[in-house]
Amino acid sequence: MKLLVVEDEAKTADYLRQGLSEAGFVVDLARNGLDGHHLAMTGDHELIVLDVMLPDVDGWRILRALREAGRDVPVLFLTARDSIDDRVKGLELGADDYLVKPFAFTELLARVRTLLRRGRNPALAEKLQVADLVLDLPRRRASRGGTRINLSNKEFALLELLVRRQGEVLPRSLIASQVWDMNFDSDTNVIDVAIRRLRAKVDDAFSPKLIRTVRGMGYTLDLPDADD
Ligand code: CA
Repeated sequence: MKLLVVEDEAKTADYLRQGLSEAGFVVDLARNGLDGHHLAMTGDHELIVLDVMLPDVDGWRILRALREAGRDVPVLFLTARDSIDDRVKGLELGADDYLVKPFAFTELLARVRTLLRRGRNPALAEKLQVADLVLDLPRRRASRGGTRINLSNKEFALLELLVRRQGEVLPRSLIASQVWDMNFDSDTNVIDVAIRRLRAKVDDAFSPKLIRTVRGMGYTLDLPDADD
């Protein structure tokens, strides 16, 4: 699941990116308001963590532009000032929640998860299942037939994407944009290598085989046809 963090303070930005990545999210990071505005308006993020005090285009303008454009992505805004005015303003502009800096990362993560769960995303069930493959989303765990499969964060994100889009052929470019971040070069064979590793863990010891290569097109996860 892909999030956008808009934060100009390098330390906070890096801390957020690292923490959220470790929690299993794909994180796009904008280090100024202009990039943040652009990514917020054009990206496909499930949630935006938005710092209010930015040197160029501030968080209020980004939030207002988003809502005026009818984009209803959840926004958690970060404010340095513990001012009621700021909070009211943010919520009036259509933010979904706010945190006052400094905050504990665990607090931010809990808010993010709550917003995503509350969200408009019907795919946010706690569990996803195809055949005997089960993804436990809150715990970031996968199993087949009750056997736990140990996956890295990236592998889990990749598998989650394939399961959510079951039956669709996903081109490498789409996988790159959803599982890696925006700076990722999808011409590399990183995706093929990741898929190979994932298949070794998810399919090799189990049946039916779920992940398939569609030559020249990409990858898909689905139940095999009866005659396969
Ligand atoms: Ca700031």
